[in-house]
Amino acid sequence: MLAMLAGAGLAAVAAGYHSMAPGSQLYGRTFVRGAPESRQLALTFDDGPNDPWTARLLEVLERRQVRATFFMIGRFVRQKPALARQVAEAGHVIGNHTFTHPNLAFASGAAVERELSECERALADAVGDHSRLFRPPFGGRTPVALRQVRRHGLKTIMWRVSGFDWSAKSAAQIEHKIWPRLRGGDVILLHDGGHRQMGADRSCTVQAVDEVIVRAQEQGFSFVTVPEMMPLQAG
Ligand SMILES: [Zn+2]
Repeated sequence: MLAMLAGAGLAAVAAGYHSMAPGSQLYGRTFVRGAPESRQLALTFDDGPNDPWTARLLEVLERRQVRATFFMIGRFVRQKPALARQVAEAGHVIGNHTFTHPNLAFASGAAVERELSECERALADAVGDHSRLFRPPFGGRTPVALRQVRRHGLKTIMWRVSGFDWSAKSAAQIEHKIWPRLRGGDVILLHDGGHRQMGADRSCTVQAVDEVIVRAQEQGFSFVTVPEMMPLQAG
């Protein structure tokens, strides 16, 4: 009995791990990183558009001549369609990050379907053509959720390095999370918004991004969008 309980506990822990761990492929194939031998990096920004921080971030990317990939929340796209359009017009790639940012590991198939299609509609209305890329909120996913994602013709994009910028107190803290792990082919997770409300302070992220770009370029890295990196997917 005890052994059975312990086994059930382990299975639950394992299921939780594979639902949330960015690199796990157990519940379906996802894109995690490009080729490690390349010197390419992909910056990704979640939870926007976010006024005014998305625009500040665009200024930094423009100054450094870097294009990035933005995973937007549909309800914020509805609130700030012009800001979403500004991201697209600057040449960045835009992907789906659901309409209301629920954890899909706990959502029904019908709820996943609704979240994906409402975000797709918001993006289509605001920016028109956009990528077929999707990032699950909190990294949460299950076979049911990933099946819905594929049904929509969307490709799930995870990450290998996170700046943990949602809880950072300074730009330096974000950079310390990124640098020790950074390798060629990495997809880097950062946030231009906060999923709870419009206006979340992302000043630390904007500053960290500027410094990371300069330092990485000095070391011979180049920045690409996720679709540009995907042909060099790590085996
Ligand atoms: Zn998010």
